[in-house]
Amino acid sequence: MDLSCFVAGKQITSERKLSVLNPYNGQRAGSVALAGRDHTEAAIKAALSAGEPLTRFERSTILDRARQLLEERREEFARLITSESGLCIRETHYEVGRASDVLRFAAIEALRDDGQSFSCDISPQGKARKIFTLREPLSCAVAITPFNHPLNQVAHKLAPAIAAGTPIILKPSEKTPLTALKFAELIYEAGLPGPMLSMLLGPTAEVAELLVRDPRVELVSFTGSVAVGKRIAETAGYKKLVLELGGNDPLIVLDDADLETAVHLAAEGSFRNSGQRCTAVKRILVHENIAGEFTRRLVAKTGDYKCGDPLDPETRVGTVIDEAAAIYLETVVQEAVGSGAKVLMGGKRQGAQIQPTVIADVPRDCRMILLESFGPLAPIVVVKDLDDAIAVANSTPYGLSSGVVTTNLNNAIKAVKRLRCGTVNINEVPGYRIESSPFGGIKDSGLGIKEGVIEAIKCMTTVKTFSLPW
Ligand code: NAP
Repeated sequence: MDLSCFVAGKQITSERKLSVLNPYNGQRAGSVALAGRDHTEAAIKAALSAGEPLTRFERSTILDRARQLLEERREEFARLITSESGLCIRETHYEVGRASDVLRFAAIEALRDDGQSFSCDISPQGKARKIFTLREPLSCAVAITPFNHPLNQVAHKLAPAIAAGTPIILKPSEKTPLTALKFAELIYEAGLPGPMLSMLLGPTAEVAELLVRDPRVELVSFTGSVAVGKRIAETAGYKKLVLELGGNDPLIVLDDADLETAVHLAAEGSFRNSGQRCTAVKRILVHENIAGEFTRRLVAKTGDYKCGDPLDPETRVGTVIDEAAAIYLETVVQEAVGSGAKVLMGGKRQGAQIQPTVIADVPRDCRMILLESFGPLAPIVVVKDLDDAIAVANSTPYGLSSGVVTTNLNNAIKAVKRLRCGTVNINEVPGYRIESSPFGGIKDSGLGIKEGVIEAIKCMTTVKTFSLPW
């Protein structure tokens, strides 16, 4: 599949090409004609000249039509994501379903009146006036997305911008650009006017960095690693910033947990999407009273997560994004083993594929406990009680999400109050959400500004306040 970047709805021509390889078999998945400095400038100018916003009805209709087109092409998109990311087809079907929800919810939100009103005659200082608010689109937003959900991350930037009426320039990951560009085509086909969207890939200095620095850009919405997010925060200057960064999410399993639920959540949270979710379970903190039985059951359960050809519907764990990422994961496991941890299941690598891996007795100061490892690893750390679990959970620089498995309401409430992160899910994986609920982290995982369709629409607008005699 040979694709090109878009400036204001028009495909660019360029001699510079990016080849995209299938991480499972090394075959060519496609290519992209790359943009440069001039295209970046043209995209900003096009966004700024987008003109009067579409009506709410028009925005909602475009989003709904895009959803219908995506549902008709579900199989095509699922296979495309699999071909460039190595994620198994089971997961990529699920991802298309999620992106379809994003479009559905954004279409609904586009119709909703988001203004407030305040009567002013409510205090001795007041008078007979009324104050109103309305939300206005930004003149130009920039979004930058990672590789791990090649469609859904892109949908979470584009759909809120369309619902808000904000022109947007999106820079997808160069590891998974084909899905993003195909999705842009679909959005134009659904009726979005060209100047409302440009999609660019190219050398960082000519595209991403120029977009981030440009004072005409009013918002940079970035999802990706902590290192790149912090660099963007330094270079963006005076503009709105949304940073959704890495995570190191714990699943806390207490001794009053339903063990079957705990094992199911630990396996799903660690291995789904090849462990490449910002909110994947990256540390399993298990109460010492049940650690033995929990570990035995998790090892048995891990056998269900068949690793293999990502296009095989029976495969539950495809590759990670590339061989370098798999080699890194192997190193992290070996380091933990060197510090006394034991691999009880998996751990073997072939090319970009690393088996779902259960590792027990992991010391608390190992790299895989302190830092984010982006792959199907399930490291188990034994804790004394809930206080100890909370201390370990809060001990890293990250603060994205968390899960707690317990049947005791007091424990649940204590965990919700004391875990320093953006989300606490009781008896669910850290990643549980619906596409419109507020989502996002604190500390190194983000600035605390939430995404999710409703919050993202707010970020893509500014509030104007006006008042009238009444
Ligand atoms: P990444 O390396 O940070 O890349 C993310 C995006 O930033 C890519 O499009 C990348 O472009 C671009 N980029 C690289 N250098 C840049 C620069 N100097 N200025 C502007 N943009 C730049 O992240 P990744 O490896 O793709 O994704 C995995 C990470 O994302 C993990 O840490 C994961 O936890 C995090 N994540 C967070 C969330 C969340 O909601 N909190 C969700 C998903 C993923 P190129 O591809 O061209 O390098």
